[in-house]
Amino acid sequence: MTRPIDLTRRITTDLPVWPGDLPPVITPVATHDAGDGYALSHLSATLHLGTHIDAPRHFIPDGATVDALPLAVLIGPAFVVDVPDDVRAIDAPYLERLAAAGGLPADAVRILFRTRNSAGLVDGRDEGPFRRDFVAVTAGGARYLVALGVRLVGIDGPSIAPWDDTDTPHVVLLGAGVVAVEGLAMAEAPPGHGVLVCLPLRIEGAEGAPARAVWFADAADPGAIDIAHPGGDARSVGAAGAIDVDPPR
Ligand SMILES: [Zn+2]
Repeated sequence: MTRPIDLTRRITTDLPVWPGDLPPVITPVATHDAGDGYALSHLSATLHLGTHIDAPRHFIPDGATVDALPLAVLIGPAFVVDVPDDVRAIDAPYLERLAAAGGLPADAVRILFRTRNSAGLVDGRDEGPFRRDFVAVTAGGARYLVALGVRLVGIDGPSIAPWDDTDTPHVVLLGAGVVAVEGLAMAEAPPGHGVLVCLPLRIEGAEGAPARAVWFADAADPGAIDIAHPGGDARSVGAAGAIDVDPPR
């Protein structure tokens, strides 16, 4: 049995956002302190906040929007690659070396990259500042992953693409219908096979949305997921056998 590991950054008002994008603002509408009898808050934020999904529409004018993404892509077996700290770009030569060494399954449908971007993250908390030297997937790396047949690629940096070429890797991946997950918190995610559950908010017509991402390590078999014991003292969560995590191809 394997217990869920949260791959989600906390949404705080000092969570760094992409330069030029708007920082999140959480405004109390009603509070206990004011005697309202309930608490109610308003959130204003970029849809590319913390851990989030890029739907194809982000870079492809007629690409799928986030509300249309199939659950069959967002939930299922995945593989976490542990990228060494000295690898600064996930490019085709790196992926070729990785595959040759048996570190990249040829039938992987979902691949998550755990890099030095996650260093310093404790319990998903990211207090910035925004850094431009994050590890990301290059255009050549993106082409390699599309040729491999992946349907979802995730990374623990602010973008799937590097700072000096934000467009091409996005166009290559999203143009092939691949879903990108950005801003993951991977510090506590064991590498290797597992099951990913990554669910973006279903915002109609949106090019992306914040998501909650959860990792079940060593759980290539959905029956091994222990959602009845998610940690803490949750009770009677449900039957693991009810989850259908068949890959979409
Ligand atoms: Zn994004």
